[in-house]
Amino acid sequence: MNRRNFIWTLPGLGASIWLTGCATDPVTGKKSLVMMSKDQEVALDRQHSPHQFSEDYGISQDAGLNRYVADLGGRLAGQSHRPDMPYRFHAVNANYVNAYAFPGGSIATTRGIMLEMQSEDELAALLGHEIGHVNGRHYAERHAKSTLIGVLAATAGAAAASKRPQYGELAQLIGNLGGGALLAHYSRDNEREADALGMEYMARGGANPAGMVDLMNMLNSQSREKPGALELMFSTHPMSSERLANSQRALQSKYADAAKRPRQRERYMDNTSRLRALKPAIDAQQKGEAELNRKNFNEAEGHLRRALTQAPDDYTGLVLMAKTQMAMKRPNEAQPYLARAKAIYPTEAQASHLTGVTHLQLRQPDRALAAFSEYDQLLPGNPDTIFLKGYSREQMRDRKGAAQEYYRYLQMTKQGGQAQHAYSRLQGWGYVK
Ligand SMILES: [Zn+2]
Repeated sequence: MNRRNFIWTLPGLGASIWLTGCATDPVTGKKSLVMMSKDQEVALDRQHSPHQFSEDYGISQDAGLNRYVADLGGRLAGQSHRPDMPYRFHAVNANYVNAYAFPGGSIATTRGIMLEMQSEDELAALLGHEIGHVNGRHYAERHAKSTLIGVLAATAGAAAASKRPQYGELAQLIGNLGGGALLAHYSRDNEREADALGMEYMARGGANPAGMVDLMNMLNSQSREKPGALELMFSTHPMSSERLANSQRALQSKYADAAKRPRQRERYMDNTSRLRALKPAIDAQQKGEAELNRKNFNEAEGHLRRALTQAPDDYTGLVLMAKTQMAMKRPNEAQPYLARAKAIYPTEAQASHLTGVTHLQLRQPDRALAAFSEYDQLLPGNPDTIFLKGYSREQMRDRKGAAQEYYRYLQMTKQGGQAQHAYSRLQGWGYVK
């Protein structure tokens, strides 16, 4: 295919999509169709990844743990097909079992999965797999598919919009506990390629590729014990018996020599010791989250109270308890947990967002506005915050200010209950006809 723009017309719909041309696939060396340049991949990464990290209760404040993940990740990325990408590796404070990559090389592993792994080789497999997604440019590929689906769904979407939940549902404001709205959902082909690349990079980086088989076995057994905690992992990275069989086969053939290397178990245990000291608290939080998702608020509160007895200064534990109180319509009880969370981790934004929501629950729109503005400064670019600033100003009877925020919001989002609310206000106030 030539390096030129072309139009792809969808038959019957009359819609056309402009593609930016072809690029060389770094892994296969073949020309392939991608919709994104490297600069676009990095820009998209920098726009979205900070919001995902915040949804995951921020990057771990355990500097040693982060350095360990970053050093190992950097070592593997240096062996990859795209060593020049601006990789960043983090451990994040979420309790669910997962890891993910954004297209510019921002890669995160949750503390939930860090607790389940037993060796550095498993961590190398996990990071290698994510580096594999970056090298296979799978995000761009999924993005291309979802753009296409977006066009196909556009007409159906207009009809469905009126059936979406209306603004005001508290659950929407507290945040989707399942999370992961910004994460790519890969295909089985993507997974196969990421596994193969991951094994290649970890073997070149000095790890024992048996870590890949260990990791898959661990995930399979965990999915039976804690299905809820692995839901997002398996919906974003589809698991199959074929993946395990492929890894076992590669280990016995291609990597037979590397498979003789000792597993680095002690080094992993040393570097995760502070995290593992939190295990009883994190176990209790996981139980609390599961009950919260089932709307068993009293049970959730019990587990989270136990977690806070064990780890009183844990940001995730405090924020989860605040969410539970808010779900029970007790904004006054939620606020002290949020205040403590903010004091412990002042640069993490989620507690400010929730504080704003408690003030809306208490009909204190001016204090809500202050909290949302604080969030916006810590973590700019979240359309929901812009909407909520508008909503707070509307409650303060500041029509002009509200209209400005609603206008900004509508430039970012056109669908859903919040967009309908914003648009109907702009209409009612005479800003649009
Ligand atoms: Zn994957």
